Amino acid sequence: MAGMNCPICGKKMVEQFTPFCSKRCSYVDLNRWLKGEYRIPGPPLDRDEESMNNGESQLGN
Ligand SMILES: [Zn+2]
Repeated sequence: MAGMNCPICGKKMVEQFTPFCSKRCSYVDLNRWLKGEYRIPGPPLDRDEESMNNGESQLGN
């Protein structure tokens, strides 16, 4: 594992904070993950299904 660089700032990796150079950089990476998850839209599947069923029943009637 020697010779690796911090993926956040490119400085030399510190074994204690692998694969980062410091605790701060590990938090930066963590925040990127959290922001990435927040960007994923969560559509209300139940409401979608309900409206589709209503449309079908209306067509049937
Ligand atoms: Zn770093």
